Order: sequence, then structure tokens, then C-alpha cells
Amino acid sequence: MITIEQAFKEIESHVNVLGNESVELSDAVGRILAERVVADVDSPPHRKSVMDGFAVRSSDIVPGCCLEVLETIIAGAVPGKSLTPGSCSRIMTGAPMPEGADAVVMIENAKLDGGSVSFQIDAVDASKHTLEKAASFGKGDKIFDVQHRIRPLDVGLLAEVGAHRVVVKRQASAAVLPTGNELVSADSLPGPGQIRNSNGPMLVALIRNAGLVVNDLGVARDDRDQLEKKVLQGLESDFLVLSGGVSAGTMDLVPEILQNNGVRQVFHKVRVKPGKPVWFGVKEKDNGKCFVFGLPGNPVSSLVGFELFVKAAIRKIHGQSIDSAMEFKANLTCEHKARGDRPTYWPAVWRESDTEVRDVTPLNWMGSSDLRALGSANALIFFPGEGTYAAGDRLTVHPIS
Ligand code: AMP
Ligand code: MG
Repeated sequence: MITIEQAFKEIESHVNVLGNESVELSDAVGRILAERVVADVDSPPHRKSVMDGFAVRSSDIVPGCCLEVLETIIAGAVPGKSLTPGSCSRIMTGAPMPEGADAVVMIENAKLDGGSVSFQIDAVDASKHTLEKAASFGKGDKIFDVQHRIRPLDVGLLAEVGAHRVVVKRQASAAVLPTGNELVSADSLPGPGQIRNSNGPMLVALIRNAGLVVNDLGVARDDRDQLEKKVLQGLESDFLVLSGGVSAGTMDLVPEILQNNGVRQVFHKVRVKPGKPVWFGVKEKDNGKCFVFGLPGNPVSSLVGFELFVKAAIRKIHGQSIDSAMEFKANLTCEHKARGDRPTYWPAVWRESDTEVRDVTPLNWMGSSDLRALGSANALIFFPGEGTYAAGDRLTVHPIS
């Protein structure tokens, strides 16, 4: 049995970083940038009006003034005339400011009368309702760095800077394979001795949320032939994530089937609670590798195994630091007795408190098969060892979303 730290080191040294590919901007949401994006234009591209109104020389705006209107500048047009003292131009939002103008009076404060305009204001500050050329960013400015995961709202900015294709990490794929004779699907009522397959749908959702393409293989019975058939299918993906069948039971066939099919074991069993029997191995293929995780069947064990080890591998394959799990420290709100000889991840709720200090409360939890506690959890508290922890103790918190 190895420690959590040793397990991370093994994952770090065995998982390789994926290559890059170029995708259309419309397909880029959720993908991780592999090259920084730099602006190819200024924004705004010209000094512009941010209001519909009149481009003026601010020094001309005095009580009772009346200015000659030279032209109307619409968005998309280029001003044809420079302002001279006593003149202005009608201008629309986004249109380039004419030479000589330094401010805009909004249309609501103006009264147009034939070829001239008077104003309901006595003065206007220089640069009012205008935006300088390149005020947001200049040509050559960095817009997004590598490793940024593209969000829907980023697509507008990427379009603005001409990034109609972006270079991103190749999207990894993961096959999901829950195992167990007792499993029935969520749409069936379990018969005697049966339970519903909760890990399959949960792992599919977790993997999708991590930005990978999922290959859902359905449940494999604890049967060598069926398991082997599905494992062979799963090995075609970048990851194969199994649940169940990795402990010491008579039907725990997963390690044996994996090794018979060329998956080299890297570790089996980690000193962690829940999730001790977790199995990790690598299959070398002609076109790359498949990283295989056998997670223990109890749902919270599967979740903890995924949160810690599968996610670390996903970070590594995407070229990120393996330990960037966003863990933080928080104060325990109540006494907690940690039992057992393994470091424990315990379902919990963390919150910001009045000060800068965050606090964290362990939930009432029945152990690795109890998913209900997770329904109200937003974190796992890490108890490094057996003993009584006091209210106020500062502990590591692993957020889960
Ligand atoms: P195993 O690791 O196969 O020995 O399973 C450990 C426990 O987890 C057993 O009580 C199983 O019934 C349960 N279990 C295994 N697979 C799943 C699953 N996909 N969904 C929910 N519970 C499971
Ligand atoms: Mg089983």
C-alpha cells in the first residue's frame, strides 16, 4: 500500500501531456488553450463615441451656444470633415470621432434646428462619452494565456481579436465501466440483493464536467468474458475508468482482467479512506497510451478516487500541474473524532465567515456507501490521521463541485 503522495508521484510520472489541435472558434467552448491568444487589432479601433449625439469641441459648449452641424457620422462610416470652432457633427454610437472633436453631447441634451444645434447643458468635459483608440486593448496585447479553459462568454472577445480558430489541447476521451452482478439501471426497481448503478452515471457526469469525451460502456457483470470484452473496448480511449471489482472479494476480477490484457499495474491500494483498493495502470498502444483507473465500488470511494487520482491524471494530460486541486485551509467548526489508521476525506460543508477565515463543518456520514451526505456537501475535509480534532483546528479542504 502506498501513500497519497506516492500515488500522485506515480500518476505524474506515467501520464503524458496530450498534443494540440486547431479548432473552429464555434467548437472551442470547454477546450483548454495550448497557445496564447494575442490581439491582432486595437479595441476600440479608433477614438469613438459611446453615445448617439453630437461630436463637439468641449471649449465651444457655453451657455446659449448654437453650433453648425457639418455632417452625420454613422457607425461603419469614416468622418469626412474636421471640426472648426463653432461647428460639430452628428454622431452615432461606435462611430469614429472627427478631427478636432474631443467630447460628445448626447442627443437627449440637444435640440436640432435645421443645420444647427443648441444644447440644454452649459458645459461638457473633454473626452465625455468618448473612448480612446485602444482603450480596452492594443494590437499585440495578450488576451488569454495558455491553459485558459474557454467559456461561452470568452467567445465574443476571441472573435473580436480575430481568433476564428484556436490552438487547444486535444480533447481526451474516457471510457466508463461500472462492474457488478448486483447492479441495475436507474430506471429499474432493484430486486432482492440488487442496487442501482450510481457510479456509472456519476462518473460519466464527472468526466464530462472535466471536459472529456465520454464513452459509456454500460455495466459489466462479474464475468471474465464480458468484462474482458468491455475492457478491450475501453482501452481504445485515453482513459478507462472502472468501478467495483478491485477489492479482495471472490468476484473482484478487474486487476486480473486488466493485466491479462496488457495493462501494466502501477499501483494497487493507497493509504486513504475511503477508496483504499484503488488500482492504476497503463496500457501501451500503437497510437499512444490508455490510463486505467479501477475505483472501488462504493460510490463515495469512487468519488474520492476520481477527485484525487483521476482528476490529477486529467490535469496532467492537459499539461497542468498535477496538484492544482484548489485545496485550501479552513477552521473546523466542531470537534470531530477521526477513526481508523488511514488519512480520511470526509464529506463537509465549507463557507466564508465574517472574517477572511473560512470554516468547515463535517456532515453526518455513514461511510463509503452513503451518497446522501454528498448531496449537501461542497467539500471533503482531509483528516491526516486518527485522533480527536478540536473546533478551531485548521485543516485542508478539498472543494467538490
Ligand atoms: P466492489 O468494489 O465491487 O466490491 O463493491 C463495493 C460495494 O460497492 C458493494 O457494496 C457494491 O454493491 C457497491 N457498488 C459497486 N458498484 C457500484 C455502482 N456502480 N453503484 C453503486 N454501488 C456500487
Ligand atoms: Mg463488485
